[in-house]
Order: sequence, then structure tokens, then C-alpha cells
Amino acid sequence: MKKRVLITGAAGFLGSHLCDKFLEEGYQVVAMDNLITGDLKNIEHLFKLEDFEFYHHDVTKFVHVPGHVDYILHFASPASPIDYLKIPIQTLKVGSLGTHNLLGLAKEKNARILIASTSEVYGDPLVHPQTEDYYGNVNTIGPRGVYDEAKRFQESITMAYHRFHGLETRIARIFNTYGPRMRLNDGRVIPAFIGQALRGEDLTVFGDGSQTRSFCYVDDQVEGLYRLLLSDYSLPVNIGNPHEISILDFANEILKLTASEQKIVYKELPQDDPLQRQPDISRAKEILQWEPKVTREQGMKKTFDYFKSLSKEELFKSEHKDFSKHIRQ
Ligand code: NAD
Ligand code: UDP
Repeated sequence: MKKRVLITGAAGFLGSHLCDKFLEEGYQVVAMDNLITGDLKNIEHLFKLEDFEFYHHDVTKFVHVPGHVDYILHFASPASPIDYLKIPIQTLKVGSLGTHNLLGLAKEKNARILIASTSEVYGDPLVHPQTEDYYGNVNTIGPRGVYDEAKRFQESITMAYHRFHGLETRIARIFNTYGPRMRLNDGRVIPAFIGQALRGEDLTVFGDGSQTRSFCYVDDQVEGLYRLLLSDYSLPVNIGNPHEISILDFANEILKLTASEQKIVYKELPQDDPLQRQPDISRAKEILQWEPKVTREQGMKKTFDYFKSLSKEELFKSEHKDFSKHIRQ
């Protein structure tokens, strides 16, 4: 019998790539999403497949899936700072109530569950690069706290289900990941810069651009997550690309890649924006025999080609997604 995997947040950026991966590997995929930040166009190519089914459902409500489930990947959550600032309570609920529901489902189905945690659990880190045993530096009441603390709670409740109920759990601490199907206007730096370059606008660097990030291409990320799910390791594992760059240098790379003549303009640094971020991936290398393979040059080229292929209408629809139909937070 084919293994059956439930993927929440399946219409989003990472969730949709995970659906592709598991279908390619011969699994049956049950995709679940309430479409708050995601889009059905990311998975519409899958609806014709016999091994694919989709539930339009908000995972903060009781989650029911008929039949057996072998694995659960809980990826539902707003993930861009602008998204979670606009829907803070939804963000807290999906990380807490949503995770609780999915752990309950995993227990009921005797399934193994992997949860999508984040480098944000390290906050604005005082340890560099970040190892999994660093406890982090998070402002609980700042604007990013709704996301960071939801993710920290998510890790705690997952470990509690593991220790108390003996549930098979996996925790991926995902660092900035990019690639095709990111939402053009989600505010994250890569779609923001590429969108600006394609529209002929100046690139907006926040602060002086000396803050750093380390960007992982989506194919590498998905492979790391897949290996983690199938491993027997239940403590958190950093999955990301350790190749660090400052945001200013990155903006210049984008101008070069897109052969754009625009300038860089500076805007205020958002509150609690982490000043440095780089994963230590020794644990992933040792336990999963995994490390990223795609260079930033290769990954950015594929990502740029994707954004270039969007219609003019999509490209110039520059406003942030309207969450008003989900306004009841
Ligand atoms: P995304 O916004 O593209 O996808 C999230 C998906 O979850 C969307 O399709 C959204 O509609 C869905 N969703 C949100 N709330 C829901 C709810 N209550 N019920 C059902 N569906 C809901 O974001 P992404 O970049 O694909 O991130 C996916 C996961 O990975 C998130 O949990 C995020 O925290 C984590 N993560 C991503 C990154 C990254 O760089 N992309 C980094 C760290 C962690
Ligand atoms: N950033 C920027 N200009 C933009 C969007 C983002 O300079 O138009 C910066 C942002 O301040 C942060 C970094 O790029 O330092 C990465 O931001 P993103 O929102 O992609 O993710 P984060 O890692 O902060 O969650």
C-alpha cells in the first residue's frame, strides 16, 4: 500500500514544492490549506493526479482526515514579516492551536509528524552562526513576537507530545528559503527586489543593508526536509544554506543579475529585524548526510526566470495581499 502524507500549507511556497516531491517519490498526498497567504495556482497542476487530494480547511479548527495517514508535514503558517504583521492573531493560532490539532491527529493516526519551525526561534541572535543548542534572543512583545513565539511554542508542544505520548516527531528549523512560487508581493526580500527590478523601480534596502541573511534554494530545502522526515532524529535540525551575504551586497547582486540600471534607496530598518543570520548545519550534515548543492547564482537565475514569466498584470499588481475576507482573527 502506498504511504499517505498530509501536508498543511500545501498551496503555499514550500508546501506546494513538498507536494511535488512526495508525489514524485510515490506517496499519496493529502493537501490542506485555507488559502490565506497561499494560492491554488501553486498546486493546480496536481489536481488531475489520482494520488492527490485537496482539503480547503483552516487547521486552527478541528482537523479530520478520513483513512490512514503515515506522515504529517505541518507547514501552514504565514511566513513573511508583512503577512504576519497583518494577521498576527491568525499567525499565533496556526502555530499553537493548529499545531495542537495536527499533533492530536498524528496521535490518532499513529503517524509521524514534521513541523516547520524557523530560524526566527533564534530571534536577533547573539551567537553566530546559529547552532541548534542556542536558545535565542526573542522580543516576545515586539511585532515579530507573534511569529517567533508561536514557532517556539510549536517546538515545545511537539517535544511534549514526543516525550509524553511517545509520538514520532521531527522539528525542522528552516532558514530563509527562496525559489519559484514565492508570492511576488509578500514583502520578503527576494520577491521584493526582483519585482522592483522587473518593474523598473529602485531597490529598497532596509537600514544600511549591513544585516545578513543566508539564502537556501527550495530544491535543497525540500531534500533536507525529506531526509529529516525519514530519519530517526527527534531534536531540532537547522536546514538552510550557510552561505551568508549582507542585504546591500545582495541588492547589488540582483541589479547585476537583472541587468537593471536602477538605484538602491534606503528605508527604515523594521523593528527587531535580525542583524545576522547563518545556519550551522553540522547536525544536518552528520545526521542526514545533507548539505545544499545549488549556488546562489544558479538558484537566483531560476527564481528570476520564474518571476519574469509572470504576466504584466501580476507583476504590476503591487499591493500586498488583501486579507479582508479573513478579517475575523
Ligand atoms: P506561504 O505563506 O507561502 O505558505 C503558507 C501556507 O499556509 C499558505 O498557503 C497559507 O494559505 C497556509 N495557511 C496559513 N494559515 C493556515 C491555516 N490556519 N489553515 C490552513 N492553511 C493555512 O509560506 P512558506 O514560505 O511556504 O512557509 C511555509 C512554512 O515554512 C511556514 O510554517 C513557515 O513558518 C515555514 N518557514 C518558511 C521559511 C521560508 O523561508 N520560506 C523559513 C522558515 C520557516
Ligand atoms: N529587506 C530589505 N528590503 C526589502 C525587504 C526586506 O532590505 O524590500 C530586508 C529585511 O529588512 C531583512 C532582510 O531583507 O533584513 C530579509 O527580509 P525578509 O522579509 O525576506 O525575511 P526575514 O529574514 O527578515 O524574516
